[in-house]
Amino acid sequence: MQELDTFKLIERISSLLRSEERKKYAAIGLQPIHGQVLEYLAKCNKYSNTHAAVAEYLGLTKGTVSQTIQILERKHYLEKETDSLDGRVVHIKLTEAGIRLIDELKPLDMFKQAETKISRQEFDTIGQALQTTLGVLQKVNHSKSFGLCRSCQYFSVEEHHYLCGLTQQALDRSDTEKICREHTPTPNSFIDQEY
Ligand code: SF4
Repeated sequence: MQELDTFKLIERISSLLRSEERKKYAAIGLQPIHGQVLEYLAKCNKYSNTHAAVAEYLGLTKGTVSQTIQILERKHYLEKETDSLDGRVVHIKLTEAGIRLIDELKPLDMFKQAETKISRQEFDTIGQALQTTLGVLQKVNHSKSFGLCRSCQYFSVEEHHYLCGLTQQALDRSDTEKICREHTPTPNSFIDQEY
């Protein structure tokens, strides 16, 4: 169960970061995949800056990589260079504009902020660390937590009945075990948010 929870948390954190990344790249007319290729090329060495290596690292088809590289080349973020010893090998390098773009865009601001907050805390389990990471990222990003009633500030139990303070309606036990769009985490608490 813990493994499943951990997997879901990773999935949720990843989709939050991907959505933030999409917004950021869309603002400059690019897609996340373009950014991922640029990032890879910014950190790989001279033996690894080929089409095949990019495809291998990102798990993409060669066709997708070729298309992506063509677009980035047209936008002057990349340039090709034939290997000086083997004319069959083509290296792909970031231009000055590509290097500037990577510097401007990475790391995601929200992740940097979250990292600063999380690095000051200690965790007993990886699930707890991921749960807190997700909570901090959601808070920094002002995104909805989609959590469970038990960690919502509107939730109360009165005379053995569950109550939603936001809608002023009674809740069945099963309602309290499902994620809610209106979930509002209790102040200073990231634990027990759902994912
Ligand atoms: S707002 Fe949603 S999560 Fe909060 S108590 Fe009401 S039903 Fe539960």
